[in-house]
Amino acid sequence: MDYSLFLHPRKAHAEIDRQGLLKELKAIGFLQPDPSSATRPGPKLMEFITYLGCSPALSSGGIEASVKLHSFDTPFWLGGEAIDRLRFPGCGHVIDSGAALIEQGDPWQCPECGNHGDLASIGWRRSAARARLFIEISPIFPREAVPSDALLDRLQQVSGQPWRWFYSRSRL
Ligand SMILES: [Zn+2]
Repeated sequence: MDYSLFLHPRKAHAEIDRQGLLKELKAIGFLQPDPSSATRPGPKLMEFITYLGCSPALSSGGIEASVKLHSFDTPFWLGGEAIDRLRFPGCGHVIDSGAALIEQGDPWQCPECGNHGDLASIGWRRSAARARLFIEISPIFPREAVPSDALLDRLQQVSGQPWRWFYSRSRL
């Protein structure tokens, strides 16, 4: 269950005003409204996450939710620890570790047949993305916790960018 939900701008190069985003997330109760740069879960965090499963870990009381912002100077790949089986495009050979591919960087090469390409060509099945800013919420069970339309709308409003999300084990 040590998976995280990562939210990020759809465009890898999109530059997001981190302070403006923090301010908005605090204003809507997604984060605690203290004036520091802390990212403690706010009283309304749960209202912005829709649960499809029956046992939401964030609201079960025993587990403390954590929210982190990760920002980078240049587009950065995160994730790759998928619950689904990932395959190389073209040859279809199984990817042992998406996270290891990401760590190695472009280009990847299939160890079985020599097929190669770049990370962006891989069908990550919602387990990885490249961006300059990510919001990480954990712990979460992949696919059972989905960001609400209200949250995605807010993020788009404050950043001027459409947002996407994925699930991965966290390595940060
Ligand atoms: Zn191959």
